[in-house]
Amino acid sequence: MISWSRTDRNDGNMSINILLVASEVVGFAKTGGLADVAGSLPSALARRGLRAAVILPLYRSARRANVEPTEIVVEVQVGHRLVPARLWRTSLPDGATAYLVENDDYFGRDDASQGRGIYQYTLPDGSKRDYEDNCERFVFFNRAVAEFLPYLDSWPQIVHVNDWQTGLIPVYLRELYAARDDRYGRIATMMTIHNIAFQGFYWSYDYPMTGLPWSLFTYDRLEFYGGYSFLKAGIVYSDLVTTVSPTYAREIQTPDYGRAFHPILYQRRERLYGIVNGVDYTQWNPVTDKYIPANYGPDDLSGKLVCKRALRRELKLSDAGAPPLFGMVARLTDQKGVDLIAAIAPQMLERGWQIAILGDGDPHHHRTFEALRSRYPERLGLRLGFDESLAHRIEAGSDAYLMPSAFEPSGLNQLYSLRYGTPPLVRRTGGLADTVTDTNAQTLADGKATGFSFTRYSPEELWNTVERAEALWRHSPEAWKQVMITGMTQDWSWDRSAADYDKLYRRLVQAK
Ligand code: ADP
Repeated sequence: MISWSRTDRNDGNMSINILLVASEVVGFAKTGGLADVAGSLPSALARRGLRAAVILPLYRSARRANVEPTEIVVEVQVGHRLVPARLWRTSLPDGATAYLVENDDYFGRDDASQGRGIYQYTLPDGSKRDYEDNCERFVFFNRAVAEFLPYLDSWPQIVHVNDWQTGLIPVYLRELYAARDDRYGRIATMMTIHNIAFQGFYWSYDYPMTGLPWSLFTYDRLEFYGGYSFLKAGIVYSDLVTTVSPTYAREIQTPDYGRAFHPILYQRRERLYGIVNGVDYTQWNPVTDKYIPANYGPDDLSGKLVCKRALRRELKLSDAGAPPLFGMVARLTDQKGVDLIAAIAPQMLERGWQIAILGDGDPHHHRTFEALRSRYPERLGLRLGFDESLAHRIEAGSDAYLMPSAFEPSGLNQLYSLRYGTPPLVRRTGGLADTVTDTNAQTLADGKATGFSFTRYSPEELWNTVERAEALWRHSPEAWKQVMITGMTQDWSWDRSAADYDKLYRRLVQAK
């Protein structure tokens, strides 16, 4: 364990070598925000003069990228077996190196046309199941990363792991590999939690597969409710723990949000930080967006009205009158506050307001919105499924954006909405609390208002917030425009997030 001091020394010129480890990286394999972080952070760090590479499994989908095998093959101990792993490599678009770990038995099975993903497969009834050997697959990947370190272009000072799929790496470095080669013992480790709901929890019978001694199977190390958890291992063993927003960092120390991890995180609170994820503004910027019918920006908003008209046409909404249009793009799951929206949507539609929803998720949410659409076909625009380009047009064409999440570790859509001049209506939780400033007399006067927020998870509170937003939109167009422009000119880029990671990396290296 490192000795830790919060003092910052003058360290501006220190060059740091970081290896990011992630189970998904955008461009190779993606199921969520983790892939964006792992794909965008290395380049943003490079722009700050840090050296970062990333390593991930070579999934079948990743072979479509421009990847090359190397001659480097190691044998990885998984239980009593030795399993071969070959190192592959390629470059990310901005030049950072991406390494990939090949073993086709473990990582060559994903095939979207067969309903097989990188962690889960689909049953005949459409529901999804984790692969039965996920524990073994990621034990292998974690040990393979440790085995490959001597063969990388440079030895990392920091290994930055992400989510449960990489949680055993800090344990391996300290408990197994440091004794073989003291360079392993000098590596500082950081773990980022992207969603506390995913914990990599396995029963004790799987423990021998890790090759770790039973002496670590204790409540203050790896043991968790009789089994063991990769996530817990990473939290306990990493020198620093981060999550994807400051508010979520506080929330997961409480029983309501911590999913049984709150005592462990509370114990490590001095080493727990929150950094909000960034937006890729090359993809999400109304000034240059290729998916929208008219470009616009804070200096000239006229294109936004063109986008609104076109969106109403695209979703077959009535083009009579000038009602407010509320947008939403989300996985239709309980996390996203879909039940709150379903509860107040009839009231909104009765008033003649319009709603545009794009989403994919739980079948019962699909049915709810389909029923609503058949009642209000000219006011509710609904597209069930995944549609990248429509997501852009909803961000651009809506007046306001709905995101009343029950929990939201970081959240991207509210950040897109800010940039697109579509003030977000959010529940004050996680990254939403950290990125949206509620509109009131004070925040308007201070020039800080960017959206609307509420605290209690209830349809009444969401309804009050929607009414409040609609009133400002209808009766105070100048104030509304100010809210739009304040949001549009904020910087939520990866460069901003990278600056925060940079600070933590420097402290880590100094402390080590
Ligand atoms: P989460 O990662 O919890 O799903 P975020 O707001 O952080 O939520 O990011 C969701 C991302 O996925 C955004 O880029 C959003 O636009 C996109 N997305 C979600 N559902 C859809 C959909 N049905 N069609 C297109 N894009 C979607």
